[in-house]
Amino acid sequence: MTVLHDDDSDPTDALSPVPAAAWRRDMPVTGRVKFCYGPMDCGKSTLALQIDHNLARQGRQGLLLVRHDRSGTAQISSRIGITRRALEVEVDTDVRALVRQAWERGKHVDYLIVDEAQFLSSEQVEQLTDLADEACIDVYCFGIATDFRSELFAGARRLFELADELQPVQVEVLCWCGRPGRFNARVRDGVVLRTGDTVYVADTAPSTPGTGSVGEVNSDTTRSSTETATVRYQVLCRRHFRLGEVGPDASGPGQLQLA
Ligand SMILES: [Zn+2]
Repeated sequence: MTVLHDDDSDPTDALSPVPAAAWRRDMPVTGRVKFCYGPMDCGKSTLALQIDHNLARQGRQGLLLVRHDRSGTAQISSRIGITRRALEVEVDTDVRALVRQAWERGKHVDYLIVDEAQFLSSEQVEQLTDLADEACIDVYCFGIATDFRSELFAGARRLFELADELQPVQVEVLCWCGRPGRFNARVRDGVVLRTGDTVYVADTAPSTPGTGSVGEVNSDTTRSSTETATVRYQVLCRRHFRLGEVGPDASGPGQLQLA
């Protein structure tokens, strides 16, 4: 018969001791970081404003942050016309400082809504997780996962690594073939571009159904006017993104002829 004499032995043979429930109740509660991602026009900004509205109705107080809003001003603007003012996150902004400034103004901060989060730096994403872990702030990030080359944006990559919850947003954005659209192709004269600046600022020109958004590549102040060709963005399925096929109605060089 085996008798355990050592009071420190763990009868459950657990790899690491989990604190008892009573002790866990004294642990600090942390906020959650959620990343909602999807292609252009999938309704991310609309969802961001809806979540802000719902949380505010529950009596919670939040800050709206944005990096590179499509309108060019510090606001979260959805393509269906709803707009809210937001704080601009600059390239060197410490997001924690924005929250501290709100505290100094006497404003309570329960949550953050961050739109265009793909443009955040890795450091800024880490600052958001600091706010969740240390200040118990819930962080809701919204953005595009991949750029026009189908590679992850820096901010999206760090969010995929650190967020508590990842949620694809797919509000029936379809490729011209009818498959779910997942990739934002940068298109000029019917040709899907594979090289160029990662970061662009699209203007607010309304998108034409089926053709995607029309915008100017204007992220480079040194760009000459001859290089500032009109570029449009079109959401494609993976197959047509990889084939570079923008649809049977588009015309231009590089377009495969449909039989
Ligand atoms: Zn397709």
